Amino acid sequence: MKKVIVTAALPYANGKLHLGHLRSTYIPADAFVRYLRMKGYDAIYICGTDEHGTPISVRAEQEGKSPKEVADYYHELIKEDLVRMGCSFDNFSRTTKPLHYEITRKFFEKLLERGYVEKKEVEQLYCPKCERFLPDRYVEGTCPYCGNPSARGDICEACGRYLVATELKDPRCILCGTTPILKKSEHFFFKLSALEGFLKKWIQENPKLPANVKNYVLNWLRGGLRDWCITRDMKWGVPVPGYENKVFYVWFDAPIGYISSTVEWAEKKGDEKAWEDYWKGGGEIYHFLGKDNIYQHAIFWTGMLKAHGEFGLPTAIVAGEFLTLEGKKMSKSRGWLVEIGDYLSRHDPDPLRYYLLASSPLSKDADFSWKEYARRNNDELADILGNFVHRTLTFIYKRYGGKVPEPKELDERDEEILDKMKEIVQRFCEDMESFEFHSAAKRLIELAALGNKYLNEKEPWKKTVEEGRTTFYICAQLVKALALLMAPIMPFSAEKLWKMLGMEGSVHDQRWSDISRPVPPGTSIGKPEPLFRKISESEVEEERRKLEERSRRALYVTAQEFARMDIRVGEIVDATRIDERRVLLKISIGRTVKQTVAGIGEWYDAKELVGRQVVVLTNIEPRRIKGYESNCMILAAEDGEGLSLLVPDRKVERGAKVK
Ligand SMILES: [Zn+2]
Ligand SMILES: [Zn+2]
Repeated sequence: MKKVIVTAALPYANGKLHLGHLRSTYIPADAFVRYLRMKGYDAIYICGTDEHGTPISVRAEQEGKSPKEVADYYHELIKEDLVRMGCSFDNFSRTTKPLHYEITRKFFEKLLERGYVEKKEVEQLYCPKCERFLPDRYVEGTCPYCGNPSARGDICEACGRYLVATELKDPRCILCGTTPILKKSEHFFFKLSALEGFLKKWIQENPKLPANVKNYVLNWLRGGLRDWCITRDMKWGVPVPGYENKVFYVWFDAPIGYISSTVEWAEKKGDEKAWEDYWKGGGEIYHFLGKDNIYQHAIFWTGMLKAHGEFGLPTAIVAGEFLTLEGKKMSKSRGWLVEIGDYLSRHDPDPLRYYLLASSPLSKDADFSWKEYARRNNDELADILGNFVHRTLTFIYKRYGGKVPEPKELDERDEEILDKMKEIVQRFCEDMESFEFHSAAKRLIELAALGNKYLNEKEPWKKTVEEGRTTFYICAQLVKALALLMAPIMPFSAEKLWKMLGMEGSVHDQRWSDISRPVPPGTSIGKPEPLFRKISESEVEEERRKLEERSRRALYVTAQEFARMDIRVGEIVDATRIDERRVLLKISIGRTVKQTVAGIGEWYDAKELVGRQVVVLTNIEPRRIKGYESNCMILAAEDGEGLSLLVPDRKVERGAKVK
């Protein structure tokens, strides 16, 4: 059996997934792997969460958690959402497992041994106040290309350019605002420049690489390849052997996660070497990802595999372009997105899978709008596909005692329909193999429309039960073919239909080659039930209203929300320094005394604080900081010089409300 591995880009464990992720990566990859399994290939679907890198560690530091806690939370959520959407992973791992650390280390050592990695001393940004190097997102500054004042150390989100932190103008440490200095540090570089010729040839000559990926990468290669720094001075990540505060760059270890997740799959299966057949034994390797990850896969990862020497190279890299929402770019900060879990709380997974695959070619941008989604669901799934299936099964159920009738001699039209059915299935397979999923989805509707047309021509309802036998026999064959075509696209409804048709086993265990094997006459069908639910206009309006509301809430604080914050003027009655930065404050607010641990020790002397009036948020959720109960929050302004406490313009009564 041919071995095929299909991977989907490891989702970053720093947030929930939304429809854009499903469309670019997880649904196309799942449809593809399901298609391959039905071809009789030994195809496995491998994924997991990517849990290293600065966005997670920065967030953890800001939220007072450990990076692992942030990743634990999102790993579970992401996995659950994807599985509920029908993603049929054979393994879904995490890059924080010891196995992954070990495999990454060995991968690195192999590159070192083969001369593809070298050590260099480089100047890096270092925060003298925090006493640490500032990798990637630990530094912000002005983009040297477009002037965006909040560009990050690795990328400018305004102009989309990848940056090196030292290029930033007016850089500042994101933890304390200090201007960093340059300091020397040793780093490992992967010699990408040595692979430039190979990569160019590989990309140009790879017959399976889709055009959007090919063009994008060749464009990049025109500018030449620089050696790539694969280590960072920080603690969160896979440790570099022999160093204490050095880890691998997240884009070095993340793709190795495809291999370690496969190794884990083999171990769980009790056949430790099984993974080698896919990665080392000439199996095919397909990587699915969003277009913003093309560079990392086509250049970094393919280069790494080539340099390592023991693994197969990607057979194809399939990149989904972006999805807009109601015609606008999706945005987390503006609240303009639909999260998977939210969608699933009101709708079924299959119509969404269908919509995301059918709406436009994967190599082009697509748009999700609730109106269009409802239209496709109602017109295509319910009125064409669902209708044909329901008419056929209901007739068989009512007029033929629930058994597929024995045909009489087939006429020319009957034969033609069966031939057409095989031809559509053949075309469907070709579409799936060339990643033309939108076209494959159309074949499904084409076949159902053909069934409706045939049924209308034959008008069996005007004939006797006896005369209608052949027609319903043919229709039963079409229904079976539809269940097969639905299987990769809408796995839940396909299985439901398979059972309704009275077929044995699971539709997902069938083979495309079985298309010519007819549903035997006499097969008992189950009670027909509608496959798809229509979506009403008022539901569409409700969804649009929810989206607008969410986006408004992301932008504004409502008057009610503000009113819930009890902000008052208080007087500091006691202040004790706990450490360099922190001061324990007891603040009298009217008749009560509240306390907080404030990080103001660098700017204020504890003794001088006593007797001062300050502004305090009094109803913040209590928590413990450094072992002390903190049940209020003191307000301060922050700029490049540090913190400055907010004070009332004149002495006011203790407990005076701030509004
Ligand atoms: Zn700092
Ligand atoms: Zn820029």
